[in-house]
Amino acid sequence: MTDRRTQLARNLAQVEERIAAACAAVGRKREEVTLIVVTKTYPASDVRLLADLGVRHVAENRDQDAAPKAAECSGMPLTWHFVGQLQTNKVKSVVNYADVVHSIDRVRLVTALSAAAVRRGRELDCLIQVALDAESGDAAGRGGVAPDGVAALADALAEAEGLRPAGLMTVAPLAGPYAGRPRATFERLREIATDLRAAHPAANMVSAGMSADLEDAVAAGATHVRVGTAVLGSRPRLG
Ligand SMILES: *Cc1c(COP(=O)(O)O)cnc(C)c1O
Repeated sequence: MTDRRTQLARNLAQVEERIAAACAAVGRKREEVTLIVVTKTYPASDVRLLADLGVRHVAENRDQDAAPKAAECSGMPLTWHFVGQLQTNKVKSVVNYADVVHSIDRVRLVTALSAAAVRRGRELDCLIQVALDAESGDAAGRGGVAPDGVAALADALAEAEGLRPAGLMTVAPLAGPYAGRPRATFERLREIATDLRAAHPAANMVSAGMSADLEDAVAAGATHVRVGTAVLGSRPRLG
């Protein structure tokens, strides 16, 4: 029996090695890529162990789980990322703990999040979630805006008080022309990110890559990888 801390430390070391190797393979500096550990479905006690082991970025995808967990972990030196689909009735809660929201996909959400951030006196970094299956009509309902909607959303974020356009996020599609092609997916995201930076130079985050495909994301220029399973283990269903 290994205890949880030992197990997490071992998994983290393996993920760290993968990221370092992926950076080296394409001549990137290790510091160009930030590891975000996705702690959804796992308890606050795991978040504490991860913080102890040096993790500084964690992500959650459901407000009802994230809010109490973040409250329990409030003393820890962590940046909280919200990566799930976000309903406007949840923004008031999310602005209490989230530092970065990865799932901006409609102007109505920008408006609601801005109002909530201002009321709470907070400044949030916001990533636009790009659905690369939207153009083919195969969007799986996992959120995200089609590539041709990115520019307008970035302008809306730039004008919204309490929010900053910080970059792009995507999840590798399960259907459509990009299904099963993570490298092509992330290369396409890179192109969209280059266009975005031309208009908003500070919007330079590219959030892409998960446990299964982080090497492809790093090769295609990702600045942030979101890793759950490879650090914490397989989730029980409903992840
Ligand atoms: C769960 C989740 C991840 C992590 O996925 P793993 O395959 O467990 O690494 C990354 N991004 C988002 C948006 C998620 O919901």
